Amino acid sequence: MRSVCSRGAYILQKECTELEQALAEFLGVRHVLGVANGTDAIVIGLKAAGIGPGDEVILPSHTYIASAAAVQWVGATPVLAECGADHMLDPADIEHRITPRTRAIMPVQINGRTCDMDAIGAVAKRHGLLVCEDAAQALGSRFGGRAAGTFGAFGTFSFYPAKLLGAFGDGGAIVTNDDAIATQVKLLRDHGRNDEGKVVAWGLNSRLDNLQAAVLLHKFKTYPEAMARRRAIAQRYQDRLGSLPQVALPPAPDADPRHFDVYQNYEIEADRRDALREHLQNHGVRTIIQWAGTPVHQFKALGFTTQLPRTDRFFERCLLLPMNTALADDDVDSICDTIGSFYANA
Ligand SMILES: *Cc1c(COP(=O)(O)O)cnc(C)c1O
Repeated sequence: MRSVCSRGAYILQKECTELEQALAEFLGVRHVLGVANGTDAIVIGLKAAGIGPGDEVILPSHTYIASAAAVQWVGATPVLAECGADHMLDPADIEHRITPRTRAIMPVQINGRTCDMDAIGAVAKRHGLLVCEDAAQALGSRFGGRAAGTFGAFGTFSFYPAKLLGAFGDGGAIVTNDDAIATQVKLLRDHGRNDEGKVVAWGLNSRLDNLQAAVLLHKFKTYPEAMARRRAIAQRYQDRLGSLPQVALPPAPDADPRHFDVYQNYEIEADRRDALREHLQNHGVRTIIQWAGTPVHQFKALGFTTQLPRTDRFFERCLLLPMNTALADDDVDSICDTIGSFYANA
């Protein structure tokens, strides 16, 4: 950070390029382009892929409002779908929601897991749809050996501080193997200016701040250890909670050889969820209900009328247990003991 400041190198400089290259190598993708945040990444990606007014994009309701808002901001219509037993966009539910206007499917790689991209890819192929991944929560997650974000036309990441790779502020990236989309993204993120600085399109100002890029580049050096620690914590939860009938855990790290999960979050389903949450709180364990308990289709002010009973039911039961690299094994054990004591005394 001192070096960036002493050079006055704040916008689209060396650290940003180096981070883009390091991420491209890590993900196995041709282009990585830093932008101002994960929401802009989706907006710009959709725009670069030619999605706009009259188009429909199918995405899960179990996501951050930003996924749907990005679709709205390019003038297209977000169409919300159910999540399956693994909490991910349900491939079977997508088919019912396809209309002549559908242009794209947006799988959200939630909680650090990648959707069943074989099944989603097959639906997309059958109906001639683009796949645009919101991988904000899934840096390093893989399905069938392939990295989240690299399956479709483009994928997006967020470097919001609470994400897997967090900046000291906002940041995001778009990744793509499509040269034409990459060229469009470069124009869109920087006022429509090409490499010679000439304005050739309408653009925005959405660049990854170079100080943030320096922070991210530094933190990225220890990213493999961070992923491994999260997976070890998930395994410890599995070992200690796996036999409790009152909770349903996310798939364990070795549950399915097709999946490599990085556990941005550890989202369980629990009987008597609210009472459990209070019990944990009383014992000094803070938990989160994702999206403050509201999946996208329940935001009445946004005019959604879609009925998603499975997602509704899921949101009466879901809870995020502590999951971060600062957790010690003892912490995990005491959290599990507290959950065990709640159900034992119920
Ligand atoms: C965090 C997040 C975003 C938005 O990223 P920002 O950097 O906060 O704009 C979008 N989608 C999902 C699933 C997220 O978790």
